[in-house]
Amino acid sequence: MLSPRDGKVIASVDEAGPEDVDRAVRAARLAFDEGPWPRLPARERASFLFRLADLVEASAEELARTISLEMGKPLRDSLGIEVPAVAKTFRWYAELADKVSGEVTQSSASALALVTREPAGVVAAVVPWNFPLTMAAWKLAPALITGCTVVLKPAEQSPLSALLLADLASKAGLPAGVLTVVNGPGPVTGRALGLHPGVDVVTFTGSTSVGREFLRYSADSNLKRVWLELGGKSPNIVFPDAYDLDAAADTAAWGIFFNSGEMCTAASRLLVHRDIADDFVARVVSRAAAYFPGDPLDPATRMGPLVSAAHRSSVVARVSEAVSGGARLLTGGRACLPDTGGWYVEPTVLDRVDPAMPIARSEVFGPVLSVLTFSTTAEALSLAGDTPYGLAAAVWTRDLATAHHVSRSLKAGTVWVNCYEEGDLTVPFGGAKLSGHGRDKSVHALDKFTDLKTTWLAFP
Ligand code: NAD
Repeated sequence: MLSPRDGKVIASVDEAGPEDVDRAVRAARLAFDEGPWPRLPARERASFLFRLADLVEASAEELARTISLEMGKPLRDSLGIEVPAVAKTFRWYAELADKVSGEVTQSSASALALVTREPAGVVAAVVPWNFPLTMAAWKLAPALITGCTVVLKPAEQSPLSALLLADLASKAGLPAGVLTVVNGPGPVTGRALGLHPGVDVVTFTGSTSVGREFLRYSADSNLKRVWLELGGKSPNIVFPDAYDLDAAADTAAWGIFFNSGEMCTAASRLLVHRDIADDFVARVVSRAAAYFPGDPLDPATRMGPLVSAAHRSSVVARVSEAVSGGARLLTGGRACLPDTGGWYVEPTVLDRVDPAMPIARSEVFGPVLSVLTFSTTAEALSLAGDTPYGLAAAVWTRDLATAHHVSRSLKAGTVWVNCYEEGDLTVPFGGAKLSGHGRDKSVHALDKFTDLKTTWLAFP
């Protein structure tokens, strides 16, 4: 595999074919059906996750460097954001493990009705490369604490960090078969997992098109349940009465250029009121220079390369197409730093984007901001909802009634008011429409990995 940093080979990784996937699923099946894991007291399962969290922290430098090398995230983010989030996720769910209870329902005096949460079985967790270990941890931690066993399939662009995590899980003492990592191309390895009759649950994060594939795999095999966290085209709506337009401009720039825009929640559509549009857009453009890309291993770099040469070409082509269609390029739009051999793109802002243009409707997954304008709240809401996605949105205003009206009206899994990308493990994360269904994080993630069982005890 090649590093996006300089296009050089950094490793070669074995690909798991259908037979390897079958072995991994059989091991997970055996560990679930006959092994100790689902039968352990929840507190004991938790102790493994606490150990894993400690080991992740102890290996933070190596994990962060590996992530930065394999997918290009700046070290300041892999070390400062991603790896701490992974340790925190394992610890948070370990703390939750023995606080999940069932129900005793009101039934007749001669019966006792219990509703218990049963672990769902063998889970296939299929994840993307943009937050390779955070996405994995969001799936693994709630699945493991409920007693499920997991086969993790990382993206082919980020296989190495997942292998390190598997090594740490083994050092934490997870019993054999409880967590297995299979690397390989999606249409081979991912497909084999999706179709495998031994898998009970697929939890997937990735593109909408591959999400559809997983629904087909399920229909064509054992009707395994499929949870989907998919793409987005999130609107960031700025009203003239925002508390602080400079803070809003800082956040608008960060919301699209953080992680090179390779974010499902990227603030890729700036919807700004016409009264302030010229001034506000100028403020955002002035911030773009701070994100000019650099070596991801340099601790000062705020934006790294894109994940692959093909992805870079696609992002640049999307910008050219928008400009040909009438959008105005305010900054960026080109591939850059050719001497590095890596896959860098300038931070890009496009003005005068028409809502019907492809750039306004479908995901770019790169550092490309599209600016659209509105005059009324109704127009803002209409523009905001005018994409097939419903993952996230933000609104900037000091008017509580506007904030409330807009946030309640938007079809989105998360709405931020006067902020962007805020949240923690206590709140659920997921989408609506073509952004998928089901929720990662929070206590609600347990719903994905448990079945409710009714036990009716009669006392004649
Ligand atoms: P992708 O859909 O191409 O790949 C995701 C995973 O699916 C990878 O492991 C890949 O190997 C596998 N895969 C690919 N083709 C497959 C197939 N035919 N059968 C089975 N498995 C297959 O997505 P990506 O390029 O890795 O990630 C980017 C996408 O992920 C974007 O659309 C982004 O919005 C989305 N994403 C969503 C969230 C969220 O929580 N909603 C978070 C991060 C990324």
